[in-house]
Amino acid sequence: MTLRTIVTLPEPVLRRKARPITTFDSNLQTVIDDMIETMRDAPGVGLAAPQVNISERLIVVEYGEEEEDENGEIIELPKKLLVVINPEIVKTSEETELGVEGCLSIPGLVGEVERFSAIQIKGLNRHGQPTKIKTEGWLARIFQHEIDHLNGVLFPDLATKVWKAQTEEELEDRV
Ligand code: ZN
Repeated sequence: MTLRTIVTLPEPVLRRKARPITTFDSNLQTVIDDMIETMRDAPGVGLAAPQVNISERLIVVEYGEEEEDENGEIIELPKKLLVVINPEIVKTSEETELGVEGCLSIPGLVGEVERFSAIQIKGLNRHGQPTKIKTEGWLARIFQHEIDHLNGVLFPDLATKVWKAQTEEELEDRV
């Protein structure tokens, strides 16, 4: 596996509408494995192919939800790795929520963005088989951010507020 370079603004690929993937060959498998490694190395919790200069509809997401146990302690649930090709949002909640997000392709900036609280996605897995994913909360936010990348949309386009991150914490969980 090879680390790929994460491109940043104003790289034009970030503003292009990415094309659907139709060939599931070994070259694609290499790209997927490289993207997973690049996301982990960044570190980030999601990455879209245009962020590594490939204008194709492919995203990888790896995120562990947190849960409170009966004593109020935070437990980190096991991380889930999801690879989705040609993802499409097929259902959205009526509810939306505001949250702060940052992007690996826009270093140092964070913003407050309104997203659907829950969404359903359909797409293909890495072998070209259909897959459906139901998500809510942070994971739903990550997917909405990544799918935007495939359409050339970046979080400042949607943000109600954008600012320079002041703390390391603000830059955690970038996508
Ligand atoms: Zn991003």
